Amino acid sequence: MTRETLDVSGVLRRVSVVKGYIDGGRLAVAVMSFDSIRLAEETESLVTQGRLRKYYRTARPGRWYGGIASADCCGCNLRCVFCWSGAPRDNPGQMGKFYTPEYIFKKLTACADKLGYSQLRVSGNEPTIGKEHLLELLKLVDQTRRTFILETNGTLIGGDEDYAKRLSKFSRVHVRVSMKGTNQEEFAALTGANPEGFGLQLKALENLINANVPAHPAVMLSFSAEKSLEEFRDRVAAIDPRLAGELEEEYVFLYTHVVERLKRAGVSPRIAYSPGGIPSELI
Ligand code: SF4
Repeated sequence: MTRETLDVSGVLRRVSVVKGYIDGGRLAVAVMSFDSIRLAEETESLVTQGRLRKYYRTARPGRWYGGIASADCCGCNLRCVFCWSGAPRDNPGQMGKFYTPEYIFKKLTACADKLGYSQLRVSGNEPTIGKEHLLELLKLVDQTRRTFILETNGTLIGGDEDYAKRLSKFSRVHVRVSMKGTNQEEFAALTGANPEGFGLQLKALENLINANVPAHPAVMLSFSAEKSLEEFRDRVAAIDPRLAGELEEEYVFLYTHVVERLKRAGVSPRIAYSPGGIPSELI
């Protein structure tokens, strides 16, 4: 199976065959692929210009977390088979426009004011790409009474201890590390990235805990056996027992383009929900 041709050149062009499959009840990967940190560097060169960051949507209301204003950025360093982002992820060089942190803050707060939300986020792709932009945005949020939910795949925070330390300077941020599967085999099969990236996700939790940044893990469980979840719970508990108690379950939502992606990857979720049938506890 050949993955999409992407404009983030080098790292991804070397990836030609990646296929996930269920092997003895566990999700496995046929061929190893790309380095998520190197892809982040390449993507950053396309989606940042100094303190400016590329977005394809500057603010929208959302029902998640009981109501949150979201701006959608371009570019990610993973290629999850269940991702709902299309061209802004795969062609970040051609999508979106560059914005200052001040502009994004203004749009987010205007959206939140209009709808009475107390929470803000950057979604759509990976908001930790473009560190200086994100930190400046958080500085602005820190002057308000709102909470910024930093949804991240965590690989950059895991690979850079300084990231968590700098996040610890802000009082209005909560980090949600979205784990892509319960172990490194699932991570590789689901994201197309090298399995070592799973270790970076766990390291992100450790770095955040060590820096006293409020954080919790979420984990994609659509493809995991129950036993794998138990093992995963033990692994996060070893970092901090509180994390196991705060583990949030994530499942695939079957938007049309997500179904297409899963089909192309040859991966079938064990549990998934249609967009109209998402259980209230997952919203
Ligand atoms: S980390 Fe998120 S944005 Fe990136 S590919 Fe995975 S689901 Fe999509």
